[in-house]
Amino acid sequence: MLSLKEKDRPIVRKLLDAGCCARCVLRFCCVGKYSSYQSSCQDINKELLAFLSHDASCQEQPEDPPCKRMKLESAQAGEDGLPETSALQGEPEPQDPKCVACLGVLQDFCDETFVKQVCETVRERDYKFDSLVLAVSLPAQLSVREHSCWLYVKKELREKSMCVEKEDVVQVKDAFKWAIQGLVGRELSAPVLCNSAFEVSIGFTHADTDKDCHFLATVCSNCFKPAKNKASVFTRMAVAKALEKISDQDFLRHYPCPPHRASSRCTPLETTCLHSSVFIAGRYNKFSRELPQTPWVIDGERRMEGSVEELIANPPLSSFRADAFNFSSSGREDVDVRTLGNGRPFAIELVNPHRARLNKAEVKQLQETINASSDKIRVRDLQIVTRDAMSRMKVGEEEKTKSYSALIWTKKAITKADLDIIGNIKELKIDQKTPLRVLHRRPLAVRQRLIHSMSARYLDTHHFTLLLRTQAGTYIKEFVHGDFGRTKPSLGGLMETEADILELDVESVDVDWPPAVPE
Ligand code: ZN
Repeated sequence: MLSLKEKDRPIVRKLLDAGCCARCVLRFCCVGKYSSYQSSCQDINKELLAFLSHDASCQEQPEDPPCKRMKLESAQAGEDGLPETSALQGEPEPQDPKCVACLGVLQDFCDETFVKQVCETVRERDYKFDSLVLAVSLPAQLSVREHSCWLYVKKELREKSMCVEKEDVVQVKDAFKWAIQGLVGRELSAPVLCNSAFEVSIGFTHADTDKDCHFLATVCSNCFKPAKNKASVFTRMAVAKALEKISDQDFLRHYPCPPHRASSRCTPLETTCLHSSVFIAGRYNKFSRELPQTPWVIDGERRMEGSVEELIANPPLSSFRADAFNFSSSGREDVDVRTLGNGRPFAIELVNPHRARLNKAEVKQLQETINASSDKIRVRDLQIVTRDAMSRMKVGEEEKTKSYSALIWTKKAITKADLDIIGNIKELKIDQKTPLRVLHRRPLAVRQRLIHSMSARYLDTHHFTLLLRTQAGTYIKEFVHGDFGRTKPSLGGLMETEADILELDVESVDVDWPPAVPE
């Protein structure tokens, strides 16, 4: 049963006469019951005709039912030599005239045949999912035709002193989803939900989009700006904006109301799938002094083999069958710096994963695969996290403490007693001008940083090990050698000698995220 009311009767008649399909008639009668759109076109049509024929108050019956009349009209148009049908991409055009509002979307693409095609494509893409959400994109001129139909209905409503808002009209997109979602769900054995992470996009185009929208460009020229990456200026956004601006009179001066019959229907685009990103996190150790954190490429040429992010991300990339990844970490170390201790927190966004779930054992296995792939890095506490949780890694990063150990060389010969001064320094404030070596990628600024504490272990007359705890973001190498006076004070300055750093290790990064994973 269609939930139509007495007040809908004149609208149903007018829209059928104008060449709207049965589902579009329901839309303009604001029928919000999903199941009403799931019957076949013929059945809805039959019900609409039955609804009209029960009109006892109507004295004057039309000679032909509206649907028959539509067919007659189109047959006549064909005789006049107008191209009533056209073959698009080799598909035979059905005999029915195309709906003036949806250009066939709600007529020819809500059946099992089309749904099976869509689902076949989804299966070929080989995703693992337990629910899906449908996304629908329609050619821009459907908005123009919708607007024309709406003005047509509004005129009728005004004559009957009734009031309906355009927002109450069910959108083609929604009616289409309601009509097919049950079939899609059954075919793919997964419910269609509105908040699923797996999106199946069904799109349509129409050959006459530019022709149908062209008048808008003359009336609202500033709504249509050519964009580099768009084939046509008549994007859905631009057309919607123009339709908001244009007055009813202007619209009616330039566009027929109701819309003209179209010579062809919409053509479906290839169905596409997209799964929202999965995020994994953990901590890593880096044991090599010849491994950059990110691929080291200068002028398109690779300067060093491998990188921390590739070594860590490649196994998850294949486990989750993702298209790409984005790596982020709590700070970073230089190519020649090791990261020891508990390691450095990191997180990886896996883009468009074809499977999104791994159980605890599988995550553990993944961690072992990463660790077995190279002895240059090691990962711990690997886990799946949410996008929100990931942002915690970056919160308050500047206030965090990092611990380092460094091998120091001094020009002046030293004794154990010379190192006592170092152990007595606490909460030392230093000013660091952006180091020369990073000036090409960081803005020039002076940053104040804190050296919380230091201690030293004597090795020989020119070498000692320096242990230090500092505020995150401190440039350690520059603190040691002074960077030509750009870091003040410096260790060399404090010891009144030239000093340099030969080796540096990160001993710990005190960020309490991600949580430890019990073995
Ligand atoms: Zn329609």
